[in-house]
Amino acid sequence: MLPLTTKAALARRVVGSAGRYSGLLSRAYARSRLQSTLAILEQKDGQLNHGSLSAFTAAQKLGGPVHGFIAGSNISSAAQEAAKVNGVEKIITVDNAAYDKGLPENYAPLLVENIKKGGYTHVIVGHTAFGKNLMPRVAALLDSQQISDITAIEDEKTFVRPIYAGNAIATVESSDAIKFVTIRGTAFPAAAVESGSAAIEEGVDPKVESPTEWVSEDLAKSDRPDLATASKVVSGGRGLKSKEEFDKVMLPLADALGAAVGASRAAVDSGYADNSLQVGQTGKVVAPQLYMAVGISGAIQHLAGMKDSKVIAAINKDADAPIFQVADVGLVGDLFEKVPELTEKVKSS
Ligand SMILES: Cc1cc2nc3c(=O)[nH]c(=O)nc-3n(C[C@H](O)[C@H](O)[C@H](O)COP(=O)(O)OP(=O)(O)OC[C@H]3O[C@@H](n4cnc5c(N)ncnc54)[C@H](O)[C@@H]3O)c2cc1C
Repeated sequence: MLPLTTKAALARRVVGSAGRYSGLLSRAYARSRLQSTLAILEQKDGQLNHGSLSAFTAAQKLGGPVHGFIAGSNISSAAQEAAKVNGVEKIITVDNAAYDKGLPENYAPLLVENIKKGGYTHVIVGHTAFGKNLMPRVAALLDSQQISDITAIEDEKTFVRPIYAGNAIATVESSDAIKFVTIRGTAFPAAAVESGSAAIEEGVDPKVESPTEWVSEDLAKSDRPDLATASKVVSGGRGLKSKEEFDKVMLPLADALGAAVGASRAAVDSGYADNSLQVGQTGKVVAPQLYMAVGISGAIQHLAGMKDSKVIAAINKDADAPIFQVADVGLVGDLFEKVPELTEKVKSS
């Protein structure tokens, strides 16, 4: 395993970089006039997903005109909200219930038609379940290679993305005519809904039939903050020993702190916590103000999902647990004793 500290040393360029920095100001200006970006927005039941406004933040880093795209039924208020993001020229809407659930089978041809019509050079979407499901299909239909999960934009064709669970950073350059990019939400803050006045325009609707049908969804309901966007997260690991103990120890701590609940994969696989709570390489990537890891050893696959948190606190009975190497604050002790004690202190403070 490579220690995180070697990250910078491992930064590498995957594709050749000839002429990369040749951009004189005038050329950069000419380029920004030629390029334009379509940011794909997410909605649920007609409500704009504010996290998806990160796509605008990334799009604005590229320069050139920025348009937003939103599809589904009853999306007019979501479109109006998105139109208030400063610097956005246009929001393209397609009002059709067939796109409510973001099924890639019909959403991808929908996007293809709108991308062709707008002549975009860049298409950006969040690296979310929606974006990961949709974008590869759209890119393939337009004969391009998707650039996934980027954390920075160097210029209009050069992007930075973590690889090997974040242990190395790749800088990739694309020569495709249209760049299809998914962005890591924690690296691009959501653009603010302010006083912008983008035009709202109807897009083309090819009305492609989907061979798949949305049947139902079974979502874990919670009054706690959403894990992906919470400012505080408390995560439990295998050290919790059972679902009963996980609930008994972690939930009161989360409630006392007003935090979202997360879990390691071992805790999820053991049935202590719902799959939607998994943090890590194959779970959610979070970067809250406070991330508290309880009974989590700190495997690199877990760190890949939380190491960008502003303050990391860890409680573990093993002083040599790797989690302490990334923790800002650590407490060595038995979680069954320390966490209830901490919960009481937080409650009474
Ligand atoms: C391809 C791949 C993808 C993966 N993706 C993910 C992912 O997305 N997220 C993820 O989390 N993992 C992922 N993993 C799994 C990862 O490698 C680890 O197995 C997992 O993170 C371990 O979870 P854990 O820390 O809860 O369990 P363990 O490693 O078993 O650690 C439990 C910790 O609890 C401590 N402990 C035990 N009892 C107590 C107590 N009473 N008081 C205090 N501390 C106690 C122990 O000291 C130990 O450090 C992935 C693995 C692979 C191969």
